[in-house]
Amino acid sequence: MATGWSSSARTTTDEQASAGVGMKIAVDLTKCQNHGQCTHSAPGVFTLTEDGQLAVRLGATGEFRSGELDEALRGEVEEAIDMCPMQAIRGLDDEGRE
Ligand code: SF4
Repeated sequence: MATGWSSSARTTTDEQASAGVGMKIAVDLTKCQNHGQCTHSAPGVFTLTEDGQLAVRLGATGEFRSGELDEALRGEVEEAIDMCPMQAIRGLDDEGRE
């Protein structure tokens, strides 16, 4: 089943974890209208399901909170935050703080 997260979207090394360099995101699913702009800005993080729903909706209600993302994805994630027409995506630090 598609989860919307590529394997590269997760922190995979102890070095990254110990350095605390990762970031997390939250997606307010009550604001998200499945425009899909984020899938263009950050294809390594966001995908749409075959029926046009943002894949992070699967198994989430109200708000989706990611695990720690690979630092290499920071640029595209920040672009997705900026481009989301509903301002539904927020960046969190690696401790999950706004
Ligand atoms: S761009 Fe924003 S509103 Fe559109 S699918 Fe992504 S999170 Fe949802």
